[in-house]
Amino acid sequence: MNSAGLVTASYIAATILFILALGGLSNQETARRGNWYGIIGMTLALAATILGVVTQHYTLLIVMLLVGGSIGLVLARRVQMTQMPELVAILHSLVGLAAVLVGFANFMDHSTVLTGAEATIHDIETYLGILIGAVTFSGSVIAFGKLSGRIGGKPLLLPARHVLNLVLLIGAIWLCREFVQQSAMGGGIWPLVLMTLIALAFGVHMVMAIGGADMPVVVSMLNSYSGWAASATGFMLSNDLLIVTGALVGSSGAILSYIMCRAMNRKFLAVIAGGFGTGGGTTAAGGEIEGEVVPIQSDEVAELLANAKEVMIVPGYGMAVAQAQHTVYEITKVLREKGVNVRFGIHPVAGRMPGHMNVLLAEAKVPYDIVFEMDEINEDFPDVDVSVVIGANDIVNPSAQEDPEGPIAGMPVLEVWKGNTTIVLKRSMATGYAGVENPLFYKDNTRMLFGDAKDTLDAVLKAL
Ligand code: NDP
Repeated sequence: MNSAGLVTASYIAATILFILALGGLSNQETARRGNWYGIIGMTLALAATILGVVTQHYTLLIVMLLVGGSIGLVLARRVQMTQMPELVAILHSLVGLAAVLVGFANFMDHSTVLTGAEATIHDIETYLGILIGAVTFSGSVIAFGKLSGRIGGKPLLLPARHVLNLVLLIGAIWLCREFVQQSAMGGGIWPLVLMTLIALAFGVHMVMAIGGADMPVVVSMLNSYSGWAASATGFMLSNDLLIVTGALVGSSGAILSYIMCRAMNRKFLAVIAGGFGTGGGTTAAGGEIEGEVVPIQSDEVAELLANAKEVMIVPGYGMAVAQAQHTVYEITKVLREKGVNVRFGIHPVAGRMPGHMNVLLAEAKVPYDIVFEMDEINEDFPDVDVSVVIGANDIVNPSAQEDPEGPIAGMPVLEVWKGNTTIVLKRSMATGYAGVENPLFYKDNTRMLFGDAKDTLDAVLKAL
């Protein structure tokens, strides 16, 4: 087989491995294998490209690979589980930036001369690659800023922002025509630069307009955009593997966004258009909530748990912060030995990324068969004796159902308040990610166990 044939064969093998990786990642029990498929596929793809496609500038390539690889390694080692979404967002921005840079480089490279329809198609590919890349780049940078708390979570709502978006879109289409016409006569750089600026502004505006509670969908949407940017780059460079891989990322990101939208009761199209999750922002102000906050101590919690028949544990972001999953597992073990039926209820956006809680519980070796998704167990709360909410807030907020004007209105939540007793573990009365007050804390059957979740749970375990 010649070298081109070998490259094609390797690309097909890598594509199959990527598809197997995605399949594996869809289930906790096969996720590890899925990861390995992905790693092998990527190694194969890189090797085939470096040895078979690249023909010169090897020193530069190797130096850059070493620099990029080292930065990636350091970042991955340093990042805390709770910072994962920020890392993902900033990595998406790099995909976008790469698409923009490759697009410009490709436009300025005149080594292959195309004519007629071929030239037009290639120009449009270049234009689209840069357009999607620039939106992904600036949108992801803003998402990174919001997720890491460098930019406030409040949505920025410019007057007539939909009109503004429409004008930007029409401008981009008109510039595409200009670009293709001018490019045919040897020019075209100005429409390209102008469009890049517009796309950058659009990315910033789109993500700035999105409220904190809706960020998870945005992260997976940008994931999808980064895939389409890579795919467009693949067309531009006539690289089949990049086209397929980009499409895989693009479509799986879109499917994930759709699933998350459904879980949060948002309209998918409204998300794509940007500027969603902005429903007025009237939060149920603290003073308006009726009822009293009743604290509880760890030994009382231990007693309640030991005497219960049905216990539901609802973990959230705070469990990740406190790294309390191992203690949670120990408590679960003790209770199960006592004959208590312990189950876990997982909200689709609990924590700071999809699957965050499942990963932590799996790490602590909590058996999969007692971990349930929200839809599977939400109707069971009336039969639950004790619900333990560990560092979760927005996902158990009854105002999502009770306050139609609030920022999380309509978002499905775990209905813990319907159980007999609810114990909420958190450090203070502070709000969660969405910045909304939570009436759950004031309900008659709620008890607050204040303190770092790891410390308070260690005390509960000791008392048990
Ligand atoms: P929240 O952010 O709503 O609440 C977490 C709670 O944990 C806080 O109220 C905090 O209260 C408490 N907490 C923090 N640290 C500790 C600690 N060490 N010990 C005990 N408690 C602690 O998290 P939820 O999981 O309930 O909801 C997820 C939110 O994040 C949703 O709004 C979701 O939209 C959003 N989001 C989700 C993403 C995803 O993909 N899953 C991505 C980005 C955002 P206190 O400070 O008083 O301790």
